[in-house]
Parts: sequence; structure tokens; C-alpha cells
Amino acid sequence: MTRYVFITGGVVSSLGKGIASASLASLFKLRGFNVSLQKLDPYINLDPGTMSPIQHGEVFVTRDGAETDLDLGHYERFVDIEMSQDSNVTAGRVYSNVINKERKGDYLGSTVQVVPHITDEIKKLIIIGAKKSDIAFVEVGGTVGDIESLPFLESIRQFGLELGPKNSLFIHLTLLPYIAVTKEIKTKPTQHSVKELRSIGIQPDILLCRSSDLIDEPIKQKIALFTNVSKDAVFSAEDASSIYDIPIMLKNQKMDDFIIKKMNLRKNKSNIKPWTEYKQKVKKCRKNVKIAMIGKYVDLEDSYKSLNEALYHAGIINMLKVEIDYIDSDSIKKSTIKSLETMDGILVPGGFGNRGIEGKILAAKYARENNVPYFGICLGMQISVIEYARNVINLKKANSTEFDMKTNNPVVALVNEWRDSKGKKIIVDKSNFGGTMRLGAQKCNIRKNTLAYKMYRKASIDERHRHRYEVNSNFVKFFKDSDLVFSGESAREGLMEIIEIKNHPWYLGCQFHPEFTSSPLRGHPLFNGFIKASFRGKI
Ligand code: GLN
Repeated sequence: MTRYVFITGGVVSSLGKGIASASLASLFKLRGFNVSLQKLDPYINLDPGTMSPIQHGEVFVTRDGAETDLDLGHYERFVDIEMSQDSNVTAGRVYSNVINKERKGDYLGSTVQVVPHITDEIKKLIIIGAKKSDIAFVEVGGTVGDIESLPFLESIRQFGLELGPKNSLFIHLTLLPYIAVTKEIKTKPTQHSVKELRSIGIQPDILLCRSSDLIDEPIKQKIALFTNVSKDAVFSAEDASSIYDIPIMLKNQKMDDFIIKKMNLRKNKSNIKPWTEYKQKVKKCRKNVKIAMIGKYVDLEDSYKSLNEALYHAGIINMLKVEIDYIDSDSIKKSTIKSLETMDGILVPGGFGNRGIEGKILAAKYARENNVPYFGICLGMQISVIEYARNVINLKKANSTEFDMKTNNPVVALVNEWRDSKGKKIIVDKSNFGGTMRLGAQKCNIRKNTLAYKMYRKASIDERHRHRYEVNSNFVKFFKDSDLVFSGESAREGLMEIIEIKNHPWYLGCQFHPEFTSSPLRGHPLFNGFIKASFRGKI
């Protein structure tokens, strides 16, 4: 039978609930348990796919094509298991399911209410998300006290009661603010947060306290007294220099042993080696490599969460410290392009819409002409094709129809609007995915004797997509004798998936998002190669 560990958050958001959940799940996975993770998000959107990355951070795409919360990225990176459509449940999805059932007549005769209909649906989705694992870690988004979280908290309260104390456990992550003037840590916000939780019927079994420093025994004692939690169930999560230190931090406090005892789980030998080895490697990274990330969502680092992580992972693999310089693509003009001179590598990430496009095109041109390693991801690859078409192939005003509907040279377009340079529609939509997103993992075949092949060392790969537009196959012939090579094609539709430029130290663009599958322990072949080349360009 699956045991359930519910993780709630208190006081403020952004305390790192996702990282704490992922770290804990990692300890249990390394101890030989089959674990699952799920994020319950109290907002009404069906999924975060339509939300601005500046508001909500990156949209993480699962292998099966779900657009999900960025915490799922942490889950995959820490625990090394694949998330799916069922791993992220929003209030919107719950309500939509219930309303659909109501219309179908499933509740005929009843008044459909939050309790029991919404809460039953949530419980059902939690069980589906647990995938029959040994231990299911279920993180409730938001902060206790939010109006939106209530149905979710009520559901886990009911579910905990149904499961019994040996099969369910509640962890509450809270904040212990440090008041610099009086040099003391304050426990009051934590007391209030637990009080709020208890008022809705949830008594936490464990408190995980975020603080700037390790918390001492008297503080633990005080928290325990005021929250009705035993002192040995108060754990500390102090600020860490790397998020990948958190599993070690929890392990050092024997948090996993505490849970094993509480839930009467088999003891299994613990193993923390991958994380201690990782820490050792980080210590060895001394030299720097500086990467320019040229995007339009640079105001919030979380918008590029997986990308940042993938770059850092690749740094560790190459024993290098990666420094990312976020540059607003809007600020790049012919007159300011020289500012890129100090960069070891240039990365143009994914994005949507017109803003900042010309700045990105200038950056791609700069990288190509100056032999600076360039990595274009999704939109970044489309930018490279546009740049090369305009400046080398002489297809003036080449563009994507996303930015110029009337361009004579739609080198990038929706599949159902592909035309050639004379405006003749040659390839018509065969697969009927034009106008909708191409999402999730798809197979791509790689040409031998290319940079892409050298990086992956295999002829067939599987990577995740999230985009609408594609390189227009009607224009591929124009690049035939040029240095721009199409080195990867989708196995199913023959769409252009990877481009690279010959006679350049490292220039590659891919239509998919390799950042979603990078792991701290292995990195990702393309990021590893890009960082290596960027560093080499330095000496
Ligand atoms: N806007 C582009 C498209 O929809 C690129 C998307 C992306 O970079 N994820 O095709």
C-alpha cells in the first residue's frame, strides 16, 4: 500500500517547498523505495501553459507533453524519475473534471459542492498521481491561509484520516525570520502558520524550518511547545550555497530515519553518495565561463529555471563555474552589440512573440561571424535560420510568420501555412498539428559526421518540444550548398530539428528543449558540449 507524505507551506511563498519535497523524495529513492511526486496547484488555470513566465516562472514540459509547474523540473532533476500529466493537478483541472461529470449526469440528483465532490475529485487525482509507488510525496502549492488552497488542504486532511497515521504524514515548511537589529530568530510567524493549519484540522507531524542559519535547541524547544509538535520533529533548512546540498542537509539531521520510524517503513540501507560526490565536484570547479543568455523574460530568473540548471550542471561536468549574464534582447542594437565581446558563449533561449527578436538575430549574427560558441534553443534555433537566410543566403527580410505574417520568405512558419518564396503553398498540413502546440518527447534522427552526432554519439534521440512554428521545408533547398547544415530531422514528419554551422567552433540550434532532461549528475550532451566549447574559446 502507498504511504503518503503531504507537504504544505506557511508564512510566505518561495521558501523552496518544491526543492525540499524533491530532496526528501531523493533520500527515499536512494534508500531503495519506489517514490512518486505530485504538485497540487490551487490556481484556476487548467495548467500553467498560458501563464507568463515572468509571473509564474518557467513552464516545465513532461515527456508525455504536459505543460506543468516548474517544481516538476526539480522533481525530475533531484529524483531522476519522469513526471507525467498526472503529476501536476490544478484547481482548474479539478473543477473542470467535476463540471464535466455534472453535465454528463454523474451526480444526478445531488447538489454538487466543494465537500464532498471537489474534495473527492482531488483525492482521486492524488491516488492516480501516486502511481502505486511505495511513498507518494504530495506538495500543496501556495501558502496555508490562502483562500484558494482550502479545498486541497481539506482533501489531504480527509485523506490523512482515511489512511491512518502510519500511512500518512504531514510536513509543514515554514520560515523563521532573522531580525538583524536584535540579532534574533523569530518563531511567531511559524506559530501562527501552524495554528492556521491546525484550525482546519491538520496537525503537522514534522516542521521544516527555513532560516538563514542552523536553528539551535532552545528555538526548536520553543517551536515544539507552541505548535504541538515534538522537538525531534522540528528540522532545520538553513540557506545553502547550492540547492543540491539540501538532500545532504536533511540526511545529516536524519529526517528520513524519523519518517521511516513514524510510518513503520522498512529500514533499507541509506545512500547519499551521489550527492556527496556532486558536492565534491562543485568544490573542484574553480575557473569561470561566462554565458550571455539573451531573452525577453530576463526580469525573473525562474523564467529560465531548467536552462539555468542545465548550464550549471554542464559547468560541473566540465569542472567550471558558469556565470550567466542575463541580457534583455530588446537592449541589443547594432550600436551595443560590442558588449557581447566579454562573453565566452551566447545562448538564445525559447520564447514567444515579437518583442526583442531583432536583438536576438543580431546576437546570432555576432556569434556566427566572431566564432563565439552559440546555442539556440527552440526560438533560438529559428532565429539562427532567419539570420543565416537574411545575411548569407540573401533571402532578404526572411522571417517567421510569427513575427511577420506577410514576409516573402517565411523560412519559419506554421506547418499549415508553409509557402515557398513565390507564395505558392507547397506542403500542406499533413498531420493537422498546425496552429496547436507541438508538445512532449518526439524522436529525432541525427545525421552522421555532424556536431550533433558528435555530441549525442547516437543516431536517434528523444527530446521534448513546446512550440508551434517550424522551419519551412520549402526553403531547405536554399541552404543546400551553404555552411548551415540541418543535422537532425523528426522521425515522424521529417521536420527540421537541429541546425549547425560548419567551420565554426560550436554553433548549434535545436527545435526541442534539451534543458528539461539535464540532470545534475549527468548534465546533458548539448549543454556539456556548449560549455566545454565556450571555455575553450577563452584560451
Ligand atoms: N515561438 C516559437 C514557436 O512557437 C518558439 C517557441 C519556443 O521557443 N518554445 O514556435
